[in-house]
Amino acid sequence: MALDSKVPQGPLKDKWTDYKNHINLVNPANKRHIDVIVVGTGLAGGSASATLAELGYNVKSFAYQDSPRRAHSIAAQGGINAAKNYQGDGDSTYRLFYDTVKGGDYRSREANVYRLAEVSANIIDQCVAQGVPFARDYGGLLDNRSFGGVLVSRTFYAKGQTGQQLLLGAYSAMNRQIARGKIEMFNRHEMLDVVVVDGKARGIIARNLVTGEIERHSAHAVVIASGGYGNVYFLSTNAMGSNVTAGWKVHKKGAYFANPCYTQIHPTCIPRSGDYQSKLTLMSESLRNDGRIWVPKNLEDVTAIREGKLKPTQLTEDQRDYYLERRYPAFGNLVPRDVASRAAKERCDAGYGVNATGEAVYLDFAASFERYGSEQAKIQNISNPSAAKIKELGQEIVRAKYGNLFQMYEKIVDENPYETPMMIYPAVHYTMGGVWVDYNLMTTIPGCYAIGEANFSDHGANRLGASALMQGLADGYFVLPYTIGDYLSDDIRTGKIATDTPEFDAAEKEVTERIEFFVNNKGTHSVDYYHKKLGKIMWDKCGMSRNKAGLEEAVEEISALRKDFWKNVIVPGTAKEYNEQLAKAGRVADFLELGELFAKDALVREESAGGHFREEHQTEDGEAKRMKEFQFVSAWEYKGEPKDAVLHKEALVYENIEVKERSYK
Ligand SMILES: Cc1cc2nc3c(=O)[nH]c(=O)nc-3n(C[C@H](O)[C@H](O)[C@H](O)COP(=O)(O)OP(=O)(O)OC[C@H]3O[C@@H](n4cnc5c(N)ncnc54)[C@H](O)[C@@H]3O)c2cc1C
Repeated sequence: MALDSKVPQGPLKDKWTDYKNHINLVNPANKRHIDVIVVGTGLAGGSASATLAELGYNVKSFAYQDSPRRAHSIAAQGGINAAKNYQGDGDSTYRLFYDTVKGGDYRSREANVYRLAEVSANIIDQCVAQGVPFARDYGGLLDNRSFGGVLVSRTFYAKGQTGQQLLLGAYSAMNRQIARGKIEMFNRHEMLDVVVVDGKARGIIARNLVTGEIERHSAHAVVIASGGYGNVYFLSTNAMGSNVTAGWKVHKKGAYFANPCYTQIHPTCIPRSGDYQSKLTLMSESLRNDGRIWVPKNLEDVTAIREGKLKPTQLTEDQRDYYLERRYPAFGNLVPRDVASRAAKERCDAGYGVNATGEAVYLDFAASFERYGSEQAKIQNISNPSAAKIKELGQEIVRAKYGNLFQMYEKIVDENPYETPMMIYPAVHYTMGGVWVDYNLMTTIPGCYAIGEANFSDHGANRLGASALMQGLADGYFVLPYTIGDYLSDDIRTGKIATDTPEFDAAEKEVTERIEFFVNNKGTHSVDYYHKKLGKIMWDKCGMSRNKAGLEEAVEEISALRKDFWKNVIVPGTAKEYNEQLAKAGRVADFLELGELFAKDALVREESAGGHFREEHQTEDGEAKRMKEFQFVSAWEYKGEPKDAVLHKEALVYENIEVKERSYK
């Protein structure tokens, strides 16, 4: 097996420019003869749809929500990176590239990352032109803040709602094309299979989620922009609907899936409160600009806090352990996410967790209130301000920066974070793994592309904060519109793709049979019953801390759970109506297959990388021993589709260099 990344020759910094100079183009008059399906309307799919339509292609866009505006991207809080160097603090394309590759534990594809850093600056210009209200400084210039794992301020933001504002920008660009008829929008439609004709992706089977109708849609190329699959863990910061189905279906039709087990466990989430919770909430990483992370130094204080006999605010500075500042003085609280998450878990595992479950550390803003307050007092010429006045002035600054996040925290935890430190703990947040793509963002099925969080290429084993929005918009606005043209230049005379063919018949039959199974099966357990059980196996055995025995158990347990699911699941309602449980049944069925592959990936990887410790591979101080390999990709070939077994071939592939293969049953 060989995976050809199709990375162009030449120095890193010239690759993208040279590539663009030499690819095939589709002339403007021919683009209207070509149809493109885009599955997903988040920042990746929305920007791709708008741009492809603006170029002249006929675009069909699909989303399972009732509007593109509700894609999960809307939840993004903290910001978007770009190497603009507006702060004059030493940023450059190279530095953004370097930080991203290093932050990803050297496992991302360098050529893709360099291109990402190069186009990052254009994204900001594009979005400002669309009217995205990025934060501005006193003089009216675009403001920046800093995110983990970097030593510059390069993150552009719109309060704690950056994703929402960027998505409104992409959505308005889409709307212009919807109004022109260049985008045909299919809201509340779920792609349930890809159709491959003569080896090329030529369409999809979708279900109208409102009427239940199964539809055939054809195109000359299919773009998967379906987001991440963190919900395989049941509890995550992702939107409740986020799922793997679109990516998994193309995987099962021949596209390789890379690095499924690399999951980002975000360090600053509101801790879990109990067994009946269905969602976790992120507290944006931007808070680590101003919040200091700590646990008590002494275990007696931990016990007193847990018993409610002591308040964190009563502990003096020398009774606190600011463990990130202690261990990583250069980055302090802004270490990369994987480092911050591992360190929090290490402290909590050692017994220093500050809530009832022992799974929480503090994120404390008291020092920022004082720092900003003192500065404001000077600016406002207030002489001898009282401590209370300083705190009040400081809180105003913090409220202006993160007000909505503080309010959200208070609503969920019922504690005022202006008066007592927030409590945070790591939670599943982002999936670096995904559908394998080459430099063109094409999967191993010709004509099938994957962009945004759905693909694997740019973040290696760990994504730096504020870089997912950057990647999604880079892919959609600036990369795919070029690379897809190179492929489509062969299709200018192909004409419409017919949907009354055996390939569409077969795909539709498979989809229909599965739906009929769900609504007719007289089982006893709900879909959520299985999802929760899967999530528990995933978190306990394939979460941050992993070991060989646990992963082997996970493979067995997930396989058994999947068999039980196909016997005993019950789905209420019918197939011809809006039926959330039915839609969820299909997604959980795919999670149950992905979960097993995920555990197998983690098992064969005898390394610690990103947020994952492999227990057999740790040093005594809890740090991870890392494998030295560069450009490390695992890929699977899916063979067949028995309902009760996942058969696949797994290979650890050093792209373009070396191939090792193992077979599993
Ligand atoms: C709480 C939170 C905060 C975050 N904050 C930041 C941040 O500040 N900065 C940053 O860079 N990143 C952030 N991220 C990560 C970032 O939001 C996501 O990685 C990114 O938005 C993903 O965009 P996307 O376009 O790839 O997918 P999504 O926005 O998830 O969109 C997926 C689209 O695919 C559609 N879809 C999926 N499956 C199907 C199907 N089978 N059929 C039809 N349609 C389908 C959906 O309807 C949707 O339109 C955050 C993530 C979370 C969870």
